[in-house]
Amino acid sequence: MTPVLAAAAKNTKNAVGRTCNMKTIVEQADPARPAAEVIQKAAGILRAGGLVAFPTETVYGLGGNGLDEEACQKIYLAKGRPSDNPLILHISEREELAQIVREVSPAAKKLMDAFWPGPLTLIFPKTDIVPMRTTGGLDTVAVRFPSHPVARAIIRAAGVPIAAPSANSSGKPSPTRASHVEFDLTGRIDMIVDGGAAEWGLESTIVDVSGEKAMILRPGAVTKEMLEAVVGEIAVDPAILSKPEGEFRPKAPGMKYTHYAPKAEVWLVRGSREAVAACINRLAEAERNTGKVIGVMATAETEGLYHADAVLSLGSRERPEEIGSNLFKTLRKFDFLGMDKVYAEVFPEDGEGMAIMNRLNKAAGYRAIDAEERGEES
Ligand code: AMP
Ligand code: MG
Repeated sequence: MTPVLAAAAKNTKNAVGRTCNMKTIVEQADPARPAAEVIQKAAGILRAGGLVAFPTETVYGLGGNGLDEEACQKIYLAKGRPSDNPLILHISEREELAQIVREVSPAAKKLMDAFWPGPLTLIFPKTDIVPMRTTGGLDTVAVRFPSHPVARAIIRAAGVPIAAPSANSSGKPSPTRASHVEFDLTGRIDMIVDGGAAEWGLESTIVDVSGEKAMILRPGAVTKEMLEAVVGEIAVDPAILSKPEGEFRPKAPGMKYTHYAPKAEVWLVRGSREAVAACINRLAEAERNTGKVIGVMATAETEGLYHADAVLSLGSRERPEEIGSNLFKTLRKFDFLGMDKVYAEVFPEDGEGMAIMNRLNKAAGYRAIDAEERGEES
């Protein structure tokens, strides 16, 4: 981080208005074979009730002892996270599940056999040792068993389940690089373990297996199709792809909050490739004439079609995993470039596309334009 950014981060205030100027250590770790010293240092901080950000295969997590109410309270404060938005507990071996969950249904067992370790979070009835502070007052607990060697080594060495939400300021795009964590949380947490880029780049799939019927609460790398191949037809919380309003409340409390939003106002634009390009170019031209700075979030196939102040490609439409892994980084880049408004293309909602469109809809606050209705040629 540059000295200017470091100074800015030190002077920011946390959710309760307290200036945070604690020293944040940054240590490098080989993502495949992290050095024992770095792991021990991180584990020591966690055991002492401190906070450590570390890479996982989804995004960077902000870890604290998940059985220690004070450590969990520190996580909420460092992120500015609303206290009714529960934390996911991370374990390093399946045996660790028994102390934190009361019951494992046959469907849950099948899903664990198929996808753990990996980017799948399951919701179970919790035991009494899991504090209500961790679960935002719910009697269920979210559990994940990550596959990333650095995450697993830190959790194992700490010897306790680690509560680890994404290591960003609440509401901002999740961090996929240690530099994103530095930008958001320097001065607010004890340590950042830099293990390179997070591979998948979107948060884990969340499936509620605490009741009779399994339900997807948040889409992620483990797709609906992959889950259904293991447990048969699975319900999807309607809040995933449409705006939760009125009585319609998402089952994962965190899904009701604004999320992934850069400073720029994001608009999704639907329609054929040509209609979308024509619509965005026309709107961008008019807005640039009034002095606004306009960005376009495009793909490898379409980036040449646009005229704007910044046109950034998410990658090829042929490779949704590339689009997913670049999404948060690109949203952060638009902020860095000082855009007032960003127009974004949309993607099919099947497979990995469901997770991509869920994050995009939230980043845009569900603002969308239909290019063909606006009279563009298709
Ligand atoms: P994050 O850790 O920031 O990726 O967000 C965790 C997500 O998991 C949030 O949307 C939470 O609301 C959701 N979550 C955590 N625990 C539970 C639970 N017990 N029941 C339902 N959703 C949960
Ligand atoms: Mg998060």
